[in-house]
Amino acid sequence: MTKVIKIDEEINIGDGSFTIIAGPCAIENREQMEKIGALLSKLGIKIIRGGAFKPRTDPKSFQGLGLDGLKMMAEIKKKYNLKFISEVLDPRDLEAANDYIDIFQIGSRNMQNFSLLREVGKTDKPVMLKRGMSATIKEWVMAAEYIRLEGNEKIILCERGIRTFEDYTRNTLDLMSVPILKEMTDYPVFVDPSHGTGRRELILPAAKAAKALNADGIMVEIHPEPENALSDGMQSLNFKEFENLIKELV
Ligand code: PEP
Ligand code: MN
Repeated sequence: MTKVIKIDEEINIGDGSFTIIAGPCAIENREQMEKIGALLSKLGIKIIRGGAFKPRTDPKSFQGLGLDGLKMMAEIKKKYNLKFISEVLDPRDLEAANDYIDIFQIGSRNMQNFSLLREVGKTDKPVMLKRGMSATIKEWVMAAEYIRLEGNEKIILCERGIRTFEDYTRNTLDLMSVPILKEMTDYPVFVDPSHGTGRRELILPAAKAAKALNADGIMVEIHPEPENALSDGMQSLNFKEFENLIKELV
């Protein structure tokens, strides 16, 4: 049985509902987040994503707005009544980030950053642990144990694809992890069809497959102008495409 994670009175993850989390790869500016907040609120979506600390492959590419980005979200969250999930990269940022973030995201590149896992394990906030890009399912579940053993059992696992020889897609979305984890653990399981495919046109079929497999939700990247996004524009939906995704999923 999946253990339900209560985010607030209205939001329960893992209760049999299909939760949609959406937002940009990275928080870029207030106008962008304002537009996205308004859209989510219109569509009844209750959790917004947006990276402030970005783990970029190239140290010279946009690294995110850091704490300033998180601070910007305080207003947006309040105005549109949203909860906010964002990645943390460094245990030293946790204390400051704790004031703004409702769900801590541990990214693929940090799935086995054991000191970071232990630190989020000491908090009382839900943690979404993304699958390492080269991690087996067992390694991923053991990484979750690092969080749980510190006392935090509010863990959500997120399948985001693994690296294989296939290079048409950015990653190979290993969707069989969903039923496997449902059997093996009692954590809610999400799917990230954006990083899982790297291609906008594959987000809808991947999301439908996730739902058919009884995933507890998806986390998808959206942007008001994906072609101008500072990161991951190729795998972000524009507003029209996102509205269509919601229609197709219900
Ligand atoms: C992200 O969600 O923006 C991200 C960096 O994902 P991942 O850690 O799965 O690559
Ligand atoms: Mn991204």
